[in-house]
Amino acid sequence: MRRKLAAGNWKMNGLRASLKELEKLKDEHPDPGCDILICPPATLLAPAVDMCWSSPLFVGGQTCHHKLAGPHTGDISAEMLRDVGATAVILGHSERRADHGETSEEVRLLAQAAQEVGLTTIICVGESEFQREATNTLDIIGGQLSLSIPDGSNGENLVVAYEPVWAIGTGQVPTADQIGEVHDFMRDRLENRFGYGVGKSVRLLYGGSVKASNADEIFAISNVDGALVGGASLKAADFAPIITALE
Ligand code: PEP
Repeated sequence: MRRKLAAGNWKMNGLRASLKELEKLKDEHPDPGCDILICPPATLLAPAVDMCWSSPLFVGGQTCHHKLAGPHTGDISAEMLRDVGATAVILGHSERRADHGETSEEVRLLAQAAQEVGLTTIICVGESEFQREATNTLDIIGGQLSLSIPDGSNGENLVVAYEPVWAIGTGQVPTADQIGEVHDFMRDRLENRFGYGVGKSVRLLYGGSVKASNADEIFAISNVDGALVGGASLKAADFAPIITALE
C-alpha cells in the first residue's frame, strides 16, 4: 500500500517570514493521512527543519550536487542536505533541466549521490508542448525514466513526478485520460525494470498547475499517489485543501 504524498516545491520563493506558512500547515494537519513534504529554498532549510522537528511535516531540498564535497562554489551536496535534516530532494525538475542544462544522465548521478546518503529522490520527468503535439510523450517519458533513475532504486528511496513542462505554472492541466495514460505507462516501466513488487511500491506524483479546485479529480486517477505542487504550495491556505483532498 503506497502512502500518498503531497510535496510542495517553493522554488526560488520564500523569505524567513514565509516560514509562518509551515506553522499554519502544522496546525491544520496535526495528524495527516498522507505524507507532507516542503522543499523550500536552501536558505530556509535549517529553520524549516527546526520548525518541523517532531511534526508530521518533512523538509526536502530542490537539487543537489553529485559529489559529496569539494570545489563547487554555490552548490550543495546530498550529504549537506541530509546533515541539515532534509529527508528528500527534488531532482531533474524541468526548470533545472532548462536553466542549468541538466541531462537525464546527470540527474541519475545526482540521484545516486542522494540515495547513497539516505535521501528520498523525487525524480521529475515530463514532455514539452512540442513533444506532446508530435505524439512523442511516452517515448520522451520512457527515455527520461530509463536514463534518470539509478539502478537499486526502490519504493523507499524513489518517487517519480510526472510534470508536463507545458502544465507547470501555466494553469493548463492535462486531461484525466492523458495523466492516467502516462502514470500507467510509468508504473509498467518501473515494474518491468525493478520487478513487480518494487515497481508497485514507488509513488508516482502528478505535478503541473495542481490547485484545490482540480485536486479531487487528479487524485482519483489510477496510479496517481499524490502531487508535486509549485505555486499553490507557497501559502498554507492554498496547500492545505490539496492535502485534505489527498487524505
Ligand atoms: C512545479 O514547479 O513542480 C509545479 C508543479 O509548479 P506549479 O504547481 O506552479 O505548476
